[in-house]
Amino acid sequence: MPKLSKPHVLLPVLCLLVGLLTSPLLAAEEVNVYSARKEDLIKPLLDDFNKQTGITVNLVTGKEEALLQRLQSEGVNTPADVLLTSDAGRLAAARQAGVLQAVQSEALAKHIPAAYRDPEGYWYGLSIRARPIIYAKDRVKPARLSTYEDLAAPQWRDKICVRSSDSIYNQSLVAGMIAHHGEAKTEAWAKGLVANFARPPKGGDRDQIKAVAAGECDVTLANTYYLGGMVNSPDPAEQAAAAKVVVFWPDAKTTGVHVNVSGAGVTAHAHNRDNALKLLEFLASDLAQRWYADVNNEYPVNPAIPPSATLESWGTFKADTLNVAKLGELNAAAVRLMDRAGWK
Ligand code: FE
Repeated sequence: MPKLSKPHVLLPVLCLLVGLLTSPLLAAEEVNVYSARKEDLIKPLLDDFNKQTGITVNLVTGKEEALLQRLQSEGVNTPADVLLTSDAGRLAAARQAGVLQAVQSEALAKHIPAAYRDPEGYWYGLSIRARPIIYAKDRVKPARLSTYEDLAAPQWRDKICVRSSDSIYNQSLVAGMIAHHGEAKTEAWAKGLVANFARPPKGGDRDQIKAVAAGECDVTLANTYYLGGMVNSPDPAEQAAAAKVVVFWPDAKTTGVHVNVSGAGVTAHAHNRDNALKLLEFLASDLAQRWYADVNNEYPVNPAIPPSATLESWGTFKADTLNVAKLGELNAAAVRLMDRAGWK
């Protein structure tokens, strides 16, 4: 029965091959990413990383809070190696929740200014967004504008639209003001600001810009990439609204414009820690930073890379030099203060 002997010889060989191919030692290199950034704002970069390194990136996208909860409940069993999210307030919350670990790297320290990363390396800012004043071109003379503090002055009664205090962007702005001016002054300011609201807070940053364009209010606060997105929008209505507003960089002579980051950290229980660090280093590299600038309408965190033409058209500004980690530390105080001030 010579024909039967073949499978008998082949079977162990096959088993060995299958065993080797599925063995963790020979498994393809990979890194698992939980991302609160939308897939189209991160996937092309992850594909580039894969091409450069051969490391497979498995991407899970979701809402910021949901991903943080998932990391917490998965604990040591989490498949995630990297958490990508926006706002230093959320990054700090992830550190506080114990889902991140500190990592150090020369490349990260070189490319990311100290103000835009956690002092102990639990997370690193990868792109910067500013939150300037945006005003109606036809109704506001820029000479009337100066600082965030001034938005509480009576000249702006019923003239301000801003999103709710649930927004981490506003919480971080208020946290920054607490860091600079203390709680008492900031609370008085927040009360004055609320008194100047043209309408109860509703909608996102884009909606505030549209309300200014539509004449519902004269002034708002919004993150720069929203306006950048509207300027370059395929929707003519968004483009038209963007054309009716202008960016004003507040606090040029004082504390500077409130800035924040999107960023990432290596998870506390990462199984692919080295690959996670490699991915962070890639995201801080010139190539990835250029992409953030051109596609995302965000400011590169790496100061060697210029911003996009749209962002450059708004001019340069003095950014607040406060370490953005402070915004996370003061988040709870900011939330309580906004509540006391009646900021819905
Ligand atoms: Fe946003």
